[in-house]
Amino acid sequence: MTATRVLVLNSGSSSVKYQLLDMRDSSRLAMGLVERIGEETSRLKHTPLTDGGASRERTEPIADHEAALKAVAEELAEDGLGLDSPELAAIGHRVVHGGQSFTRPTLIDSAVLAEIERLIPVAPLHNPANLTGIRTARALRPDLPQVAVFDTAFHTTMPESAARYAIDVETADAHRIRRYGFHGTSHAYVSRATAELLGKDPSEVNVIVLHLGNGASASAVEGGRCVDTSMGLTPLEGLVMGTRSGDMDPAVIFHLMRVGGMSTDEIDTLLNKKSGLIGLCGDNDMREIRRRIDEGDERAKLAFDIYIHRLKKYIGAYYAVLGRVDAVAFTAGVGENAAPVREAAVAGLEGLGLAVDGDLNAVRGDAPRLISPAGARVAVAVVPTDEELEIAAQTYALIEKNI
Ligand code: ADP
Repeated sequence: MTATRVLVLNSGSSSVKYQLLDMRDSSRLAMGLVERIGEETSRLKHTPLTDGGASRERTEPIADHEAALKAVAEELAEDGLGLDSPELAAIGHRVVHGGQSFTRPTLIDSAVLAEIERLIPVAPLHNPANLTGIRTARALRPDLPQVAVFDTAFHTTMPESAARYAIDVETADAHRIRRYGFHGTSHAYVSRATAELLGKDPSEVNVIVLHLGNGASASAVEGGRCVDTSMGLTPLEGLVMGTRSGDMDPAVIFHLMRVGGMSTDEIDTLLNKKSGLIGLCGDNDMREIRRRIDEGDERAKLAFDIYIHRLKKYIGAYYAVLGRVDAVAFTAGVGENAAPVREAAVAGLEGLGLAVDGDLNAVRGDAPRLISPAGARVAVAVVPTDEELEIAAQTYALIEKNI
């Protein structure tokens, strides 16, 4: 029997998200989430996706990642999909920061683990959790190939002119300060799927990808290669997000320290967790913001306008970076669902060949689709992202090559 299943693990500091896929047909066999690991109120929600099985929940305390993964393994085993199955080919791990070292999916060994560890200073929140997930999974199945798929990898093709900040080069290099970009798995998947939607090879098209979730980022993709992206050293840079400020004058930070008396940690929390849409109007869910706007709420309207203004600036900037744009693709929670955001983001850009057809924009659905008017110079598309499928596909492709 050929092993064709891939388990995708996305390990956060107190959570583990997982999906089990069968790469024969890219179907999903099970998915789930363990939340609040290490707390009394831990929860595991497991959903078998074969034979229409119902979701199951566990609410007992789950002490650590090892206990979490063991509980996940038990749930999978109950559906006949256990981690000891000979059909399991590999585990694919989402790893947030691969720095400049990792430009592609990588088979994990002790040297790879050491390098991911060396990158902790540039990803202090994410890489330790990712490492814990990998170590735990390796302990459970030491014989199984495990692959790291990096959020930063797709952006490693950015030229130095886009990747470097204009600060003293020695200082930047000493601290590995540069623009790395994130959401790379999504930008890779969506730019490729957009080319497919246009019936073209990715090498033939230039695409601006707008990944608008709670975190949000834009990328300029030229012939399948990323040439610029809006997130930087950390995911804080760029677009207005659910709770992050995105771009601002860095001197705001000195001002908050000197005049506002705030500590580094307080400012970190302010800019990452209490800014963006939630800082501007108290809500970070675009559905709630639209509802408030419909009721005439001025603060919600201002938050929306600031969000759109920044988004439009990035569309214009990446248009200039690419020179020729074949498509603008909207993806992730807001991009896939919020028609008013898509409409407002390209409003007034007819001169650039960009427009949205009202009827097409109002259609909902799970499939990639065009929302620009027939014959438009630039295609505007909604292309649902699928980071788990992309991680599974990259993982499987790598181990097939090595078999
Ligand atoms: P992340 O993966 O970054 O947590 P998602 O890509 O799942 O985020 O996007 C979550 C966001 O998508 C929500 O905060 C909400 O603003 C937005 N969203 C989800 N569904 C809708 C909808 N039907 N209409 C408008 N916005 C939506």
